[in-house]
Amino acid sequence: MKKFILSLGVALGLSTFTFAGHSTSEPTKTPSEIMKELITQDSEFAKEHHHDYFSVFQNKQSPYITMITCSDARVHENILEKDPINKIFSIRNIGNQLLTSFGSVDYGVYHLHTPVLLILGHTHCGAVKAALGDYRNESFDIIKELDHLFIPLKDLKGTAKNKKEFEKIWIQGVERNVDYQVEMALKKYKKEVKEGKLTVIGAVDDFINAYKSGEGRIIIINVNDEKNVNNIKKMKLFKDLSPKLKALYIKRITN
Ligand SMILES: [Zn+2]
Repeated sequence: MKKFILSLGVALGLSTFTFAGHSTSEPTKTPSEIMKELITQDSEFAKEHHHDYFSVFQNKQSPYITMITCSDARVHENILEKDPINKIFSIRNIGNQLLTSFGSVDYGVYHLHTPVLLILGHTHCGAVKAALGDYRNESFDIIKELDHLFIPLKDLKGTAKNKKEFEKIWIQGVERNVDYQVEMALKKYKKEVKEGKLTVIGAVDDFINAYKSGEGRIIIINVNDEKNVNNIKKMKLFKDLSPKLKALYIKRITN
């Protein structure tokens, strides 16, 4: 039973990995309680939405963002959109990596032609934490996925002397990973970006207030590999944002 709950937890994206921040704890609900909750929630959703809602996208999806984010259960589309259905083509894996999901990202860019590719990392990312430490005891497939994080993080590894220092290194690692994924995306989708058909945005979902903008903000740290915050703020892309919002949302911890 314990094994089933654990594998169900992983399948549902619950935070059961030992490297996922602080958690070695199991989900508190039983599978039958989980099923009841899922069906109750879906039943409410089905009651609240009528045919007109579904008919718009029944034959074709038309999202405007391809988003690659971490599988972490604390990160979800509803932080960006109240109703993300048919708006966000979402790809998720541990550490929001392109290399392990390029096929899916290609689909969003080449077939759905979304004008934005959003690479969304997050604070306290367990995958980044694991990649900064020793993950040899994880399963073969986890190791395989974490190994791709080696390149952006290699010179941060083992540099923290204590917990406080590690917190700093951890957020630096999150930014480095997002920057690295943006770099990879630009290599692959160079033509689309050059022609102005695609904008690659690197951001961090900050639920611990590391950026001092408040919990739950999406902090934009990179646009088409531009990492200079002042240059990003001047971009036409943000012309409709007030200086106050720009100051809140466009920031970096590392330069
Ligand atoms: Zn994560």
